[in-house]
Amino acid sequence: MEPPYDTPLDEVRSHIARGCKASRRKPEDITLIAVSKTHPASSIEPLLEQGLRVFGENRVQEAQGKWPALRERYPNVELHGIGQLQSNKAEEAVALFDYIHALDRPSLVKALGKAMDKADRRVPCFLQVNIGSEDQKGGCSIEGLPDLMSQTQDADIPIVGLMCLPPAGIEAAPFFALLAKLAQDNGIKGLSMGMSGDYETAIMLGATHIRVGTALFGKRE
Ligand SMILES: *Cc1c(COP(=O)(O)O)cnc(C)c1O
Repeated sequence: MEPPYDTPLDEVRSHIARGCKASRRKPEDITLIAVSKTHPASSIEPLLEQGLRVFGENRVQEAQGKWPALRERYPNVELHGIGQLQSNKAEEAVALFDYIHALDRPSLVKALGKAMDKADRRVPCFLQVNIGSEDQKGGCSIEGLPDLMSQTQDADIPIVGLMCLPPAGIEAAPFFALLAKLAQDNGIKGLSMGMSGDYETAIMLGATHIRVGTALFGKRE
């Protein structure tokens, strides 16, 4: 696909292809998560109509309001919970999401483990790492990762990857590279990294899951 693109999805897919080509990877190995937070069902439907089935939401309540109806009309949607999660929302998150990306602390491991037991449903999770060691950001510390991993094992929570949100306003590549190294050192395969501004870079550094909102839906209010 070459510019001009018919749709934002075509454009994103062409950037994915470019990142893959540069790093000798295959586009099939990259999961594009369309981040539909804040956008109404009417904005999501065009992407569903184009065949996209993997979406990300950051708030449980908002996702509960939009997705049950959309899922009835479009089967096989895979919904990723990508935002900070409060422990008291664990049961709802386990019922709603097919993947959870922001598992970052012992209290949440406990709550999610309990919720998964109760629902008899194991939801695969990504461990979020505070890759830039920023005070205001979620994610476990780099040093705390092994401990958190063993806690998830004890709670029988399947871990499929690491996730990060690098510091805003500076080059993300070194942080992506660090997350990839941490995953490799800990025997973890998946890497949820890269957003609208930097997903091509993330792919070149090993991302398996990219979380793209603005480039697909336009600016959020
Ligand atoms: C909103 C959000 C995204 C998408 O960001 P864009 O810049 O709009 O692509 C990705 N990841 C998380 C955790 C988000 O909250």
